[in-house]
Amino acid sequence: MTLEFRCSAVGVTDCKSVTKADSAEELLGKVAAHARDVHEVELNQTLINYALTTVKEV
Ligand SMILES: [Zn+2]
Repeated sequence: MTLEFRCSAVGVTDCKSVTKADSAEELLGKVAAHARDVHEVELNQTLINYALTTVKEV
């Protein structure tokens, strides 16, 4: 199972980043690092929950 998250799915339309991982925990870790490094956003629980609603299984 591979999970995929796209910044564009949460409204960051100028970011073409696609993050993939084998588990939700791994995915969230990568997304959190990307959000911090690229968007200077610290994920809180609300953002995590929202992000998870957009995650697709690929
Ligand atoms: Zn991004």
